[in-house]
Amino acid sequence: LMKPVDKISALMELYPRGMAGFKRFLDLIAQQPDVQDKDNAIDAPAFQGNIQFDDVHFQYDPEQPVLQGIDLSIKAGETVAFVGPSGAGKSTICSLIPRFYDVNHGKITIDHLDIRDVTKRSLRSQIGIVQQDVFLFTGTIRDNIAYGNLNATEEEIREAARRAHLESFIHTLPQGYETEVGERGLKLSGGQKQRIAIARTFLKNPPILILDEATSALDTESEKIIQNALNELAKNRTTLIIAHRLATIRNADRIVVVTENGIAEQGSYEELLELDGTFAKLHHIQYERV
Ligand code: ATP
Repeated sequence: LMKPVDKISALMELYPRGMAGFKRFLDLIAQQPDVQDKDNAIDAPAFQGNIQFDDVHFQYDPEQPVLQGIDLSIKAGETVAFVGPSGAGKSTICSLIPRFYDVNHGKITIDHLDIRDVTKRSLRSQIGIVQQDVFLFTGTIRDNIAYGNLNATEEEIREAARRAHLESFIHTLPQGYETEVGERGLKLSGGQKQRIAIARTFLKNPPILILDEATSALDTESEKIIQNALNELAKNRTTLIIAHRLATIRNADRIVVVTENGIAEQGSYEELLELDGTFAKLHHIQYERV
């Protein structure tokens, strides 16, 4: 997922301040060379969030296929965690859903609509992404949360902050929501930044959520708070988790094990342990290390 984010962060440097800046920034993103809308692309209706991969092949580089024949069906509201060795393609699978790239063969549908037939704007407006690296604009905490929905009311912004477990932290700041953050403002911790991203996503309220789990460990307290906020965020949405630590995905409805040969196994945590295959090995390695 990082390439588009690099692009976004570069653009953020260009447009640091205020809502007018945010709007110009969004226009700029829309103009970036990227996958294109078809001439006859339609605006996607409000999604329920059933996602289907049919024989999906994808490669960044013609010499190096990454995904070869992925079939996967995710039901609306389901929480699916992707695990597997580094480089197997977990992030790639997830980055195809907002069309950061288009498949080379096969198709991806949401509620039976091929995602290449809908406008990117209508597709991406219904997908929330919480990344491990969160970019803050130079601006206030309020502006940074409001980025999730530029039309949000003050009440909605506060509600999002509350649900992201940010309010008590904001109240400790002398200038509260008006505190400047980002390059020239208050430096926030990794956990605080992540909660800003969670608050943005509550405001956006998308039916589909992609969580790119942080690889670097936060302190236990912060981790617990964030995990609670994420669990709350995932409720009633189709949620895909790019997982690096097994402890956080015990309650996923389904775990999909991705290896360089494609999807190796899928099932619940207990089912996969029972199977005693790739997942059980990963489990063994992680818990032996602890
Ligand atoms: P990790 O657990 O390390 O995040 P992953 O399972 O999410 O790994 P991907 O990031 O999807 O794996 O990468 C799959 C393969 O595609 C890797 O070989 C990786 O080097 C390659 N790859 C990923 N992103 C790009 C890119 N933007 N351009 C070229 N190759 C890429």
